[in-house]
Amino acid sequence: MLEEHKEISRSQHLSSLKFSARYLLSLVNDILQINKIEENKIVLENLTFNISDEITVIKNSLSFLSQKNNNSISIDIDPHIPEYLIGDKLRLAQILMNLVSNALKFTKDGQVEIIIKLNKVEGKLHYLDFLIKDNGIGIAVVDQNKIFEKFVQVGRKDEDYQGTGLGLSIVKRLLGLFGSSITLDSDLGKGTSFSFTIAFEHDLAKTKSIIDEIEVDLTSSEVYKILVVEDNLINQLVTKKIIEKNNYACKVVDDGFVALKILEDETFDLILMDINMPLMNGFETTKRIRLQGIETPIVALTAFDKDEITDEAISSGMNDIIIKPFEPVKLFKIINFLINEKNAV
Ligand code: ADP
Repeated sequence: MLEEHKEISRSQHLSSLKFSARYLLSLVNDILQINKIEENKIVLENLTFNISDEITVIKNSLSFLSQKNNNSISIDIDPHIPEYLIGDKLRLAQILMNLVSNALKFTKDGQVEIIIKLNKVEGKLHYLDFLIKDNGIGIAVVDQNKIFEKFVQVGRKDEDYQGTGLGLSIVKRLLGLFGSSITLDSDLGKGTSFSFTIAFEHDLAKTKSIIDEIEVDLTSSEVYKILVVEDNLINQLVTKKIIEKNNYACKVVDDGFVALKILEDETFDLILMDINMPLMNGFETTKRIRLQGIETPIVALTAFDKDEITDEAISSGMNDIIIKPFEPVKLFKIINFLINEKNAV
């Protein structure tokens, strides 16, 4: 909607709608996440990241929330921290998102500070001290231990206040995965600080090779033909729009059987495959496509958690997985990478 109707981009209703949609998604994800951590199903990933970029993304994505209570967010990152670190940036972002959005929710006309300092270096490990500080309502001493429990919310009365009461228990558990713990320092009426330390690896050679691997040429002027296999009408529309906006040709089919039929006499550069489809799911469709000897790269488009479906996706013959809702740039990176890789063979 925002891309097509620039005139409503400032609409409060649209912002609220977006906020609510994200909120619902986050509630579902929070519950799934807690279960997974409790069942020890989470393994931290090693991704290369730039801490300033990550913090900027977090700040920008919370700008709606900060305007709501008229707060400002300031960022202070120690210049001694290496430009690229290795670690689970997604889980780190999740911890920070939870803490910063809490700080913004429980502060009015105030300031939220995100401060990151280099504490010490041991070999390749760089220990970073994170501090999220606000000058909001604060938390009473009697409540300070309780708030880390599941579904606990203190003094909730505002009708418009949205929260699941799961944020801090997720933060605490995620920090446990990093081998860290959280420290709370709060004065009622004055403000709250949450702090923790995480060690990230800094390995120049490793960093370079990871970056080289993900760099993809997006300058291609070729018109690629993409087949989208997706039963959900809204997803069909959105995906088609995004692909055509990039000047690629796109054909959409509703189910696996139709896809197999079309592939008998048409060739595509890449296939985007939904997993959850009623007649025949994406894994089965992919298996059958491979049985027909078709080697076109297939990318799963799914709302599932990547970890949960990776094995099945690979064994069915898929080349990659993209989690919905996806960033268009990410989709094109993967498309280009797979098409180039195939053409190089
Ligand atoms: P939620 O934010 O969804 O209510 P959390 O687990 O993230 O759940 O937080 C639990 C409770 O801790 C909140 O309801 C609030 O009472 C308190 N809290 C968390 N962060 C802050 C903060 N920065 N300032 C004041 N109170 C806070």
